[in-house]
Amino acid sequence: METLRLTEPWPALGPPIAKHLSQLDVRVEANRCLNCYDAPCIRACPTGIDVPRFIGRIATGDLLGSARTIMDANPVGASCARVCPTEQLCEGACVYNADQSPIRIGDLQRYATDWAIDSGATLFRAGPSTGKRVAVIGAGPAGLAAARDLARLGHAVTVFERDPHAGGLDTYGIVPFRLPAEIALWEAEQVRALGVTFRTGVSVGETIAAQEILAAHDAVVLAVGMGAVPRLGIAGEDAVGVWDALAFIRAAKSGAGVGALGGAVAVIGGGNTAIDAATASRRLGVPSVTMYYRRGPERMTAYQFEIEFAQLEGVEFRTCTLPSRIVVENGRVAGLEVVATDPGGSARSVPGTERVVPADTVIVAIGQSRHVALLDAFGVLYGPTGIAIVDDAMRTNRANVFAAGDCTFTPGGIDAMVVEAAQRGKVAARSIDDFLRGAAA
Ligand SMILES: Cc1cc2nc3c(=O)[nH]c(=O)nc-3n(C[C@H](O)[C@H](O)[C@H](O)COP(=O)(O)OP(=O)(O)OC[C@H]3O[C@@H](n4cnc5c(N)ncnc54)[C@H](O)[C@@H]3O)c2cc1C
Ligand code: SF4
Repeated sequence: METLRLTEPWPALGPPIAKHLSQLDVRVEANRCLNCYDAPCIRACPTGIDVPRFIGRIATGDLLGSARTIMDANPVGASCARVCPTEQLCEGACVYNADQSPIRIGDLQRYATDWAIDSGATLFRAGPSTGKRVAVIGAGPAGLAAARDLARLGHAVTVFERDPHAGGLDTYGIVPFRLPAEIALWEAEQVRALGVTFRTGVSVGETIAAQEILAAHDAVVLAVGMGAVPRLGIAGEDAVGVWDALAFIRAAKSGAGVGALGGAVAVIGGGNTAIDAATASRRLGVPSVTMYYRRGPERMTAYQFEIEFAQLEGVEFRTCTLPSRIVVENGRVAGLEVVATDPGGSARSVPGTERVVPADTVIVAIGQSRHVALLDAFGVLYGPTGIAIVDDAMRTNRANVFAAGDCTFTPGGIDAMVVEAAQRGKVAARSIDDFLRGAAA
């Protein structure tokens, strides 16, 4: 059954971070754009959004045209307007950086896509039918981007999604005050409007076998993201009050609830997921929230703007600190034992520096595991860390199986982010189209 929309609004957990531009701000910003030749902002966008074009359309009052320009290049452009690290991407490349006043591209993108959401417009049409059938496994940013472009190219697409709602981490993983679930669901709805079938609540490999999918489709895109947070491997991990950060955010965002957290939350990790868990905890009313990271601050993978935001929200940071044991009393978390690590950044613990810090809840955010069993089921080769091996065209070792998004990002390589996942989904769609048209010839 297709359940792309929420029947009840999900909790917002306090005011959104993004500030709405006033009409005057919009007019001033849009008219400041120089429409640069060979615009660096376009080159800095992984999906290649024609930034001066969408801004120019805002300036002339053509908001539908503006939203189309954004969403044409980036099928999850409304989500990206909220979560992209724009200062590292388009805004970081804007020529106005010379005097520290880059165009507020992200805010303008949000303005145009918000207009499209409110207008109820369907932005694109499906292409003439090719008679080919493609299965997309996973309805996160990569899967939605692939499905959207495949449908525009005329292929019949079915998206298989394990969760009840589409959107992947945009719906369930990124905290609602940065990205409300409704935005990702609108993007999924735009895809569904092209005739794409969504089979939600279907876990490929469990509810339906990989072989069945392969037999019924001409090509498959694996866009399954990553899995749960791995275990820490320390004593006390199974106590009540220890959370996988993704499960924690999901419960808080979907309204399932996280129960009583106590007066002190310890978040373990130094990435964006850790920050989201920490800021969500603060917004859930926990007075003391501390992030513990085993290396120095310069090695934290969270975006700088996120770290600054967490500090503003009252989150404390302890770097070069490694958890060594969760203190448990009556089956519940009663504290966290930590040990200092070598300040050189090796993450090796310094003997004799153990101490117990206050913690009623421990949230673990130390990365994500990989879906290797599913890759095995499709006969797809993967590297030592469980990443699907793909070429630049998102082709795997199997001619009719492609992969995109987080399940293809090598740790330490390109950042796993929404816009990159979407771009890989687009590339996979284009490659499948080439493959299917070649196969048909
Ligand atoms: C807490 C958090 C905060 C983040 N913040 C940011 C940010 O601020 N900016 C940013 O750009 N990026 C951020 N990211 C990263 C971003 O969310 C991911 O890079 C992006 O969602 C990857 O998209 P994807 O489609 O590859 O995977 P996902 O979004 O993980 O989607 C994969 C989908 O596949 C489905 N699936 C998995 N297995 C199966 C199966 N067997 N059968 C059917 N369906 C299956 C899953 O249910 C899921 O819906 C954040 C991530 C997290 C966890
Ligand atoms: S670099 Fe800045 S000024 Fe130039 S086109 Fe892009 S947004 Fe406009």
